[in-house]
Amino acid sequence: MSQLISRSDLTAWINALLAEYTVIAPTKVDSLALYQPVKRADDIFMDFGITALSPKEWLFPPTETLFTITTQDGTMKLEAPPLDGKNLIFAIRPCDARGFRLLDKVFLAPPADTHYAQRRQNTTLIGLACSKALPQCFCTSVGGAPNDASDVDVLLTEVEEGYLVNIVTEKGQAAVAQAKLIEKDVTPPSPPNLKPVSTEGIVEATLRAYNDDYWERLADRCTHCNVCAFVCPACYCFDVRDHINQGKTERLRCWDSCQAPGFTRVAGGYTPRPTKGARLRQRFGHKLLYYPQQYGDLLCVGCGRCIASCPVNIDIREVMEDLQKLGVKSVSARA
Ligand code: SF4
Ligand code: SF4
Repeated sequence: MSQLISRSDLTAWINALLAEYTVIAPTKVDSLALYQPVKRADDIFMDFGITALSPKEWLFPPTETLFTITTQDGTMKLEAPPLDGKNLIFAIRPCDARGFRLLDKVFLAPPADTHYAQRRQNTTLIGLACSKALPQCFCTSVGGAPNDASDVDVLLTEVEEGYLVNIVTEKGQAAVAQAKLIEKDVTPPSPPNLKPVSTEGIVEATLRAYNDDYWERLADRCTHCNVCAFVCPACYCFDVRDHINQGKTERLRCWDSCQAPGFTRVAGGYTPRPTKGARLRQRFGHKLLYYPQQYGDLLCVGCGRCIASCPVNIDIREVMEDLQKLGVKSVSARA
């Protein structure tokens, strides 16, 4: 027997959740679907395919204050912003939830990033299985699946009668406490089929291609708009800077991209990755070589956003195929 919630009871449940959580859900903003806080269940846009931006911003914001320092009468005071409050991300796709698993390995490794860790602890993930795949989707090739429940607290699967409710964790159990669930024998639909992308030997292939002129050739067409990094649920490059105003210093953390020309610039103006090719190699090297070497998984969940957003059609699936085809080259030490 499965647990099921009807469509009208789902609406009632979401409205009940709003009393306890800040509910962040897909909404329609002009022509885009974006995860935003909602005030009522009717604000949620359920037929969204995939949102333009991943929900990563709700655990790792594009800009956040890490702390402020104020000076008064010769005394300095350091304050961290409050991070309390319970969030619930509703209708998160399994690939985006897997993105949090990849970020966890970085931000929760000792010493944990307190901002990310607190938000992570205070956030419940209600997943929504994908009923169809978009042409750019390839989650099944990088360890995920359209109906993967491993990284969510509850997984909803749409069926004719409403939604199947798979409660995965205690957090999920707490979130469904106010939901009117019924037991019913319902067969879940088969997940959509995705075109496979070969990732076999990709770590070794990326290492072998380190000194290949492939990167400069590919980078010729890259505009360094950084969109691929900003839409990605797994990218986590950031910059830290101070904003000083009338005796108050705010230390800010902002999203950045390893493809931005100034990302690795150091004091004195030296840039260890001076060419577009070196920076593009860094982006793909991080996803396909350095992160997997350190943590095991590829730093990609196959959401396809970078593919759909790139103005010059640089496609990570084609890059992986190209790398696999490149012959064995002499390997020099990583710079
Ligand atoms: S690299 Fe591209 S396909 Fe992979 S997770 Fe990031 S945006 Fe999605
Ligand atoms: S989206 Fe495309 S053009 Fe823009 S930085 Fe990424 S690879 Fe380059």
